[in-house]
Amino acid sequence: MEDITIRIRTGAVHVQHATCPAGCSLMAPDVSIGGFPSIRVTIAFGSERGQLYLDPGYGSFQHQTGLTIPPRTVVEMSCPTCGESLAQDEPCADCGARTFRLSLPQGGTITGCLRAGCHRHKLELADLDGDLLRLYERDKRIIL
Ligand SMILES: [Zn+2]
Ligand SMILES: [Zn+2]
Repeated sequence: MEDITIRIRTGAVHVQHATCPAGCSLMAPDVSIGGFPSIRVTIAFGSERGQLYLDPGYGSFQHQTGLTIPPRTVVEMSCPTCGESLAQDEPCADCGARTFRLSLPQGGTITGCLRAGCHRHKLELADLDGDLLRLYERDKRIIL
């Protein structure tokens, strides 16, 4: 596989169809962030456990949670529906913590760091024909 790096404006990509590895939708239409439905996951650290709403704007980090996460804490993340872990073994290239992976349509993925405050993340698109064409056609926003 060859890697291609594309620089995009923050907020230019909005995730609208994220799922867990088992295929449950993670979208939370009842909680919008930046005007779009957020991505709901269950997080846990120490004795705390609760919901975290991820900002669906790629590169934007206005996440919402009722929990107080101490800075630099590495959290566990799982699917609120089936409980499957979203963590994977690939370490964060910046801080070495474990990372999580969200599945997108057509085999794409978003990988992010599980350490609070670390903004390392990566978007991989498998369906280049469809997704990249859309990126060029609609220069305002790409919907995944
Ligand atoms: Zn699930
Ligand atoms: Zn990190």
